[in-house]
Amino acid sequence: MFQNHSDRTGQVMKLKQLSKEIESLRRKNSVLMRKNCEMKKDLTESKKNSLSLFRSNETVKMFIDPCSGAIIDSNQACFRFYGYSRDDFLKMHLSEISLFPEKQLRNDLFRAKKGWLHELKDKHRLANGEMRDVALKVSPVQYNRKSIIFVVVEDRSQLKRAEDLLSYQIEQQQLMPDYVRSEVVLRSKSCELGALLNNIQVQIWCLQDEGTYGQVNAAHAAFLGYERHQVEYQSLHVVFSRERARQNIAKNREIFAQKSRKSYEQWSENGQGQERLLRFIKTPLFDADGNVEFVVCSAEDITKQKLAEEALHKTNRLLKIKSNQDGLTGISNRRCFEEAFSREWRRCKRSALQIALVLVDIDHFKAFNDQYGHQAGDKCLKQVACALKQSVHRSADFVARYGGEEFAILLPETGLEGAVNVAEKARMNVASLQIPHKFGNPEEVVTVSVGAAVTLPGTGVGGSSGYSFLAAVDRALYRAKDKGRNRIECVGLDANSGLNVNRGSDPQIPCEQVPLAG
Ligand code: GH3
Ligand code: MG
Ligand code: MG
Repeated sequence: MFQNHSDRTGQVMKLKQLSKEIESLRRKNSVLMRKNCEMKKDLTESKKNSLSLFRSNETVKMFIDPCSGAIIDSNQACFRFYGYSRDDFLKMHLSEISLFPEKQLRNDLFRAKKGWLHELKDKHRLANGEMRDVALKVSPVQYNRKSIIFVVVEDRSQLKRAEDLLSYQIEQQQLMPDYVRSEVVLRSKSCELGALLNNIQVQIWCLQDEGTYGQVNAAHAAFLGYERHQVEYQSLHVVFSRERARQNIAKNREIFAQKSRKSYEQWSENGQGQERLLRFIKTPLFDADGNVEFVVCSAEDITKQKLAEEALHKTNRLLKIKSNQDGLTGISNRRCFEEAFSREWRRCKRSALQIALVLVDIDHFKAFNDQYGHQAGDKCLKQVACALKQSVHRSADFVARYGGEEFAILLPETGLEGAVNVAEKARMNVASLQIPHKFGNPEEVVTVSVGAAVTLPGTGVGGSSGYSFLAAVDRALYRAKDKGRNRIECVGLDANSGLNVNRGSDPQIPCEQVPLAG
């Protein structure tokens, strides 16, 4: 009984405690709910504030969908800048105002979304067609749980124009002579057409008639050694000497009379008395009746250019000569011979003319070098080249160093008799040099062996091609070597018999028939 009473009291106490705790929790909950409510209000307020800040601010801003490039939202300043209505603008894509190719734009938006790109320079087209240089500051933001790009647009057109103008001025100043440069710096007039004409190096002037100046630019006045006002609207007789004025007036008269543009180069004296080569262009301008109202003239100093061109031509000529010349003997080299041979072969073939080729080889030249030394060998080669040159007289005859101690003599329009004569003369001219060769040549002087052939290109000796003809000459040379050296061997059509015959140094060996190809 007593136990029951104490249990109940305990339970009542517990209930009271519980209800107290519930009451306290309820109070805490209502405080939290109030706070939550206030925070929500604050959040809405701050969203409103930032939105109104976004909308009302004068900075041009927009939100772009990085995937499609669609303009999601933008502010009044943006509509004003681009010149579109809000409705139109929010239907557009960035690619419709940007000059960038779409692929590059998509790539840039992707990089901006990743936070890898913060600024890009672009050109944007406004609604009225005007182009503006812009810088876009881009940053990725969350908008309605979507990742989009927040863009701030800065119009850099004026800045860009100023930059361009500045670099143009710098460029112009660098091109100008000092006297013009200082004028430019002082006046800062580089974008005006007048100032431009006055600052370029080309001389420009107007002629009112054949003998009277109109306006002139500083370059022309400076060339003449005058101030502009001393030349403008003056007679040419005031500016030039009597003779020069007469010449210039005569030239100008042609343009006024012929009514056509004229360009020519002429040496002219400048204010310092130096002759400069000028390239003139004189263009007539017409009035409503088709009469020449005045003539616009320009002149460019091309002296340096001309001198450089001439020097270049001279060098080219020398190079060409050098590339065709044998360095040791000074006569034509093999390259030059091959060109001449191919040219003459074709010419003789076209005209059905005979052509002869002579190959000359110094006998026992290795032994000569071994005994007398390389330098003596070189000297001997030069003497032999000289002797061979003296063996020919016709202008079309051509002597070349074929290689080593071999020489070629090309004789266009030459028959067998002529070839034999030249070959024999070449052999004798070398022998008569009397260059000692005591230790290898039984003749005890330098001698040559000579092989020659004559053909009608495309028919005759050694087949039809130039190549097989050369081989026939080579074979003749080796026959001369085989038969004892210091002799000639020729092969060609005999004028009397019409046969291919051999003609050698030995008078006792008569004409003999030889095969066409060996
Ligand atoms: P062969 O009578 O059979 O023609 O005998 P060779 O000794 O003249 O002929 P080979 O072909 O055996 O030797 C040619 C020599 O010509 C060898 C080489 O040293 C010499 N030679 C070639 N070119 C030059 C040169 O530019 N200067 C000098 N000094 N010698 C040269
Ligand atoms: Mg040889
Ligand atoms: Mg030899």
